[in-house]
Amino acid sequence: MKTIGLIGGMSWESTVTYYQLLNRMARERLGGLHSAKLLLWSFDFAEIEAYQAAGNWTAATEEMVSAARKLERGGAECVVICTNTMHKMAEEVQAAVDVPLIHIADATAATIKSANVTRPLLLATRYTMEQEFYKGRLKRAHDIGVLVPDDAGRTVVHDIIYDELCQGVVLPKSKARYLEVVAAARHGGADSVIFGCTEVGLLIGPSDFDIPVFDTTVLHARAALDFALA
Ligand code: GLU
Repeated sequence: MKTIGLIGGMSWESTVTYYQLLNRMARERLGGLHSAKLLLWSFDFAEIEAYQAAGNWTAATEEMVSAARKLERGGAECVVICTNTMHKMAEEVQAAVDVPLIHIADATAATIKSANVTRPLLLATRYTMEQEFYKGRLKRAHDIGVLVPDDAGRTVVHDIIYDELCQGVVLPKSKARYLEVVAAARHGGADSVIFGCTEVGLLIGPSDFDIPVFDTTVLHARAALDFALA
């Protein structure tokens, strides 16, 4: 088994999910006492969020690159950025290390392709929903066009991520608001939902929908374990 290098803490609420998923999937695949070999670099998310909010992506990129190098020096055989948003600097991170970066959008795209859907709704941070780094990768590399909520919907989705989910707060009223955003998008033609933020699965799940759901945390963790066990 290869050693997985996780860049986490963004937020740690979803890094916990990665850790559980990787270990549970290793046990399912290998049985008995098997668990995932991994290294974790976990940020203080307050520092990273401050860079995001200030638009200081240069500093944020330096932090991600530095974490990836530390993981590689420590023996990681791949790098996994445990957040969709911080794939904004995925290319810089990949260029800084010799081991492969397992890209969250690629891991998600493979499953979307096999599900026969054409109009997935992307629920994510404002950065991921509005900038090109993520939607563009899905389009260019995988020919998947995504829908995003309208501006009011994007505000709801983004604010609940930072003000609640990343702080361990999971509220039924926020779940209801997410479901409203999805319902509105379905009227606009959405035929599936991408949980494009690694905390979204803390609030809603596949059982809340009768259309396909793609949880990037689950799909990314699976891709990382596939790499480790190949
Ligand atoms: N974990 C989230 C994501 O997947 C949001 C936090 C962050 O900005 O990294 O995008």
